[in-house]
Amino acid sequence: MTGKTSLESLTFDNVWSRFPDDFFTRVTPTVWRDTRLLDVSPTAAMRLGLEAETIDRGRLTELMSGERLLPGMDPLAQKYTGHQFGTYNPSLGDGRGLLLGEAVTPWGPVDLHLKGAGQTPYSRFGDGRAVLRSSIREYLAGEAMAGLKIPTTLALAVAVNGEKVMRERVEPGATLLRLAESHVRFGHFEWLYQQRRVEDLERLVRHVIDRHRPDLAQSEAPIEAMFQDVVTRTAELIARWQAYGFVHAVMNTDNMSILGLTLDYGPYAFMDRFESNLTPNHTDATGRYAFDQQPGVALWNLTVLGQSLTPLVAVERLREILDSYEPTLQAAYAILMRARLGLETEREEDAQLIEDWLTLLERSRADFHRSFRALSDQDVIGGLSLGDEIQDAGLEGWLERYRERVSVESRSDTERLAAMRRVNPLYVLRTHLAQHVIEAAQEGDAEPLVTFRELLSSPFEARPGMQAWSEAPPRNAPPVCLSCSS
Ligand code: AMP
Ligand code: MG
Repeated sequence: MTGKTSLESLTFDNVWSRFPDDFFTRVTPTVWRDTRLLDVSPTAAMRLGLEAETIDRGRLTELMSGERLLPGMDPLAQKYTGHQFGTYNPSLGDGRGLLLGEAVTPWGPVDLHLKGAGQTPYSRFGDGRAVLRSSIREYLAGEAMAGLKIPTTLALAVAVNGEKVMRERVEPGATLLRLAESHVRFGHFEWLYQQRRVEDLERLVRHVIDRHRPDLAQSEAPIEAMFQDVVTRTAELIARWQAYGFVHAVMNTDNMSILGLTLDYGPYAFMDRFESNLTPNHTDATGRYAFDQQPGVALWNLTVLGQSLTPLVAVERLREILDSYEPTLQAAYAILMRARLGLETEREEDAQLIEDWLTLLERSRADFHRSFRALSDQDVIGGLSLGDEIQDAGLEGWLERYRERVSVESRSDTERLAAMRRVNPLYVLRTHLAQHVIEAAQEGDAEPLVTFRELLSSPFEARPGMQAWSEAPPRNAPPVCLSCSS
């Protein structure tokens, strides 16, 4: 054992456990029998300064079964509230996850959060458990997002246990060890605002600044600067979701990270064919959280956060800051989409070219990701072919405009296509592939999970023999049914 890279060598500074009493409840994780580790993420291990291969798997299993904590941990459930589907719910909090400890790393603090750790005072009617299906979905989602350079929480490991958990049917229980710079949510601020606790509200803002955004402390008005930071990061996050076809599906304010991370994966989806109003969560009957609603919903959520800051910042200032959301999102989205189309320079006609491309994809029911990749693969023998992906009379006309547009760029075609392949993934976390991985794991085979996790961690690089992992679902396949029951 090399002392430096062992789990035991992590040190903790548990700031949250020093907050006022009602910010949290100390809870000991429930012990689950027969816990078996399925995979450890090297990407996540790096965030702790560890190497996945050298992590003691027995020790990690003990941690994830709830049997034995690491020295310095002080597990607790955080209290927060939030707006769920537009309605305020005062009785939220960590209902099935525990903040085990806040690790100290050279890159700053990292929360270790055990999801599926048993009941807490905030469980309401829930059993405090996580099932294997949802835990694998969240595990892969973090990896896929990190691979696409989209800010996210990221799980270090996923483990199955011997518990039988009742959902729509009986499912194996599991735990997920989730890492995040912070688990502070918009809902933490809403809770204090609703209780008119101005001092504690300010304390929480100071916490976010001191611990996560120390540069903002120098600013003339640090609280305003923090709100501006949240608005900017959220706009940039949503731009990335929109550019990569990701639907979060449960954008409640308790699932919104104060650091602009993608947080709390449930019935999310990366789209297959491009559907602008895709709503993967079948319990979201009105499509409140559909793909094309996400930019507006995030602004609504930011407005709720702004409301919570009204005891500390003038309403006019909050409004001005909120006004920066839309242009920030538009600018970030345009940069991402131009990169995906291989456009280095910026021209007025680009917005139309991008919009027409998406219209073409939607009309022809083409696969979103494979179409971008095919456009980038035009000089690759054995790569994806545009004609196969997009069967539509409009393709030639669009391509003509596109070729004319790229001809004014100074890069060579070869350079442009290579650059496009660095931003247009070949391996995408598609629902049917995740489902395949889940079913194998439920049968005791974790190998597909490991393979898919590896591919998603560097999704741009074509690997021999891995073609099945880049396929779209068969056209007439029934959609996998996703719900909030996770
Ligand atoms: P989510 O939409 O998954 O982020 O969950 C919303 C709220 O319900 C959070 O406060 C969770 O902690 C809680 N919750 C979800 N599932 C369970 C469960 N099985 N047991 C206890 N609490 C849960
Ligand atoms: Mg949540």
